[in-house]
Amino acid sequence: MQAYRIRSWRGAAELCEVPVPVPGPGQVLMKVAGCGLCHSDLGMIGIPAEFGEPLGWSMPFTLGHETTGWIAGIGPHTELGLDEGDAVALVAAASCGHCRYCITGQDNACPGGSAGRGYGRDGGLAEYVLVEDPRDLLPLGGLDAVTAGPLTDAGSTSYHAVRRVRSRLLPGATAVILGAGGLGRFAVQYVRLFGAARTIVVDHAENRRAQALELGADEAIHGVDEHTAVRIRELTGSAGADVVLDFVGTDGSIAAGLGALAAGGAFGLVGAGGGGFGGNWFSGLPRDGEVFTFQGSDIADTRAVIELARTGAISNPTEVFALADIEDAYRRLESGQLIGRVVAVP
Ligand SMILES: [Zn+2]
Ligand SMILES: [Zn+2]
Repeated sequence: MQAYRIRSWRGAAELCEVPVPVPGPGQVLMKVAGCGLCHSDLGMIGIPAEFGEPLGWSMPFTLGHETTGWIAGIGPHTELGLDEGDAVALVAAASCGHCRYCITGQDNACPGGSAGRGYGRDGGLAEYVLVEDPRDLLPLGGLDAVTAGPLTDAGSTSYHAVRRVRSRLLPGATAVILGAGGLGRFAVQYVRLFGAARTIVVDHAENRRAQALELGADEAIHGVDEHTAVRIRELTGSAGADVVLDFVGTDGSIAAGLGALAAGGAFGLVGAGGGGFGGNWFSGLPRDGEVFTFQGSDIADTRAVIELARTGAISNPTEVFALADIEDAYRRLESGQLIGRVVAVP
């Protein structure tokens, strides 16, 4: 089968021919209908062993961590509750199911989760993917299997962020979303669904600001830049924002977000832009507030997001490319002109 793989440490990614995996005891083979592309895929190309090996990654591996498809084979002695041909989403993160995090529903903090399908292990940019643990499969319940993949990462990670601040989205409160790309456009929709807060979106792309307004944002301003914090304070009568979710994650966006925050507010760092915090006890951190960060999402988040998409409560715009045109698809992603997620179809 065709698979888009990183061949070696510090190596490039390319389409190559590999055998179709065979499901062993307790395992499931999934035929891929579509797999969403993520900016983080590009960050994995060229990574050195010093970075990957401590995370439990091994080479080579197939990229792609937003995978949906159909059950194509069930290994012996596998308890699944699903049949061949059923449409499913695959949770990318590995989790053990029995550690202190997994049993409290915080499986994205499972110590075994630093390698997952599409990062350090074989992911979904292929015709088939092997699922070692059926607990990672979620039924799609009538959702289109080709385009649902982005719900499992872009949709779920942003859901996790908004869920964390849900109790703050009260009437009169302001929520700010920095970056209206793959994740931010979902976050706008969750803020609208979960609360009564006014939503301000900040993005440098005019088409993404327009889309954010269509999806329910109250205001969309240009940025993120050195004027963003002042602009948000102007828009909030100097009070500042009760919630800032930063889907950019650079030094600049973190400084802008913290600078825009009201006392008692919450700042969530979601974007992996590599930025740092400069604050201390005196300034630069929210007084009596909260700063949090996390990676990925819980299985329960993905289950909830699938339900929201299935019932039409959220929209998940996508552009579909053939897996054979994967290089073009990544170029399209990098151009920053997209207003939906790119999905590759084998
Ligand atoms: Zn991702
Ligand atoms: Zn665990």
